[in-house]
Amino acid sequence: MPVNLLDFDLKQLTDFVASVGEKPFRARQLMRWVHHFGESDFERMSDLAKSLREKLAQEAVVAVPKAMSDSTASDGTRKWLLDVGAGNGIETVFIPETSRGTLCVSSQVGCALECAFCSTGRQGFNRNLGVAEIIGQLWWANRALGRDVRSESANGSRLITNVVMMGMGEPLTNFDNVVTALRIMLDDHAYGLSRRRVTVSTSGIVPNIDRLREECPVALAVSLHAPTDELRDRLVPINRKWPLAQLLAACKRYVEAVPEDAEGPDPAALGVKWKRKGAPRDFITFEYVMLAGVNDQAEHARQLLEVTDEVPCKFNLIPFNPFPHSGFERSSPEAVRRFQEILLGAGVVATVRRTRGEDIDGACGQLAGRVNDRTRRSERRETEMRA
Ligand code: SAH
Ligand code: SF4
Repeated sequence: MPVNLLDFDLKQLTDFVASVGEKPFRARQLMRWVHHFGESDFERMSDLAKSLREKLAQEAVVAVPKAMSDSTASDGTRKWLLDVGAGNGIETVFIPETSRGTLCVSSQVGCALECAFCSTGRQGFNRNLGVAEIIGQLWWANRALGRDVRSESANGSRLITNVVMMGMGEPLTNFDNVVTALRIMLDDHAYGLSRRRVTVSTSGIVPNIDRLREECPVALAVSLHAPTDELRDRLVPINRKWPLAQLLAACKRYVEAVPEDAEGPDPAALGVKWKRKGAPRDFITFEYVMLAGVNDQAEHARQLLEVTDEVPCKFNLIPFNPFPHSGFERSSPEAVRRFQEILLGAGVVATVRRTRGEDIDGACGQLAGRVNDRTRRSERRETEMRA
């Protein structure tokens, strides 16, 4: 079986080229061809010796999932449903904005965590995505968006400037594959994204927040959604395993961390207690989905300020994206505004996420939900919730 070069970070690619008798710099060249230029045909990798190109053609491939559908919303949001075999689809969404372009990447087929308001959670868990399937989403989107990625846009930058792991799945329960894919995103020979422009979103897998801090600190978003354990236990069931106090302590540790490869003087030597140069972000982004009458009252906002008091953070309020049989409703714009104003009034940054790509089901597992939900689990769930 040929190996898929998209599965390898630079170190693994270096081991691979060594195994076929080549020097380490070949790995860097290959990394550039495959990721930077988006090339999958070894014949076209013109600065590699012919003998190496032939060897590669025998022993390796550059293979990504194929697109089952490709749709563009009226606001420019573009969504691909990628075929990962056995009738399963995963989705990748590109969100263009004036000063940046964000790609929302999936980490699993389905999700095991069953958050009450999440359409991916309703589908149940199918499997983890491999490294090539995760990084393949970025590879694919760069090609699809950039026509020929070799002609980078006029200012020399790519269309995709940011990546958020906010598609289907819980990235921190597919830890090793996600971290390898993150390393490729950060690698200067591949995509060269800065740690601040790559965000992992988690529902709160506490031990792996600590591992991420140690192994590959990137920006961290945490799906909070409730200010008390009682409410969060219901909305985000993983809270029963790692309750708020543990989660918030891990968030605090995360921003205090200074990665080993951080440049500049040791913050301790400067008497700085936390978050200095090289930290992936100076704050945690708390995501908070606004569910009418459930978690959107003034009292919830005040409790939220209290429990997050010691964590440098900002809030991103997300209007709930309704889907059939969800059992929830989106908070009114007035309720969202009131909630936001309480946070702002306490000096905490709070933004409201603009809903994008609604005419193509641009959000959170919805298109793939239609493809994958053959078990009718969503209908069953609603019946259970009513009962
Ligand atoms: N599993 C990770 C990342 C994927 S979900 C996590 O839970 O953080 C990305 C974000 O979308 C999370 O904040 C999640 O809570 C939110 N989300 C899920 N379903 C949603 C819905 N129907 N409407 C709005 N946001 C939703
Ligand atoms: Fe999984 Fe995130 Fe959906 Fe929860 S919100 S079910 S963790 S994808």
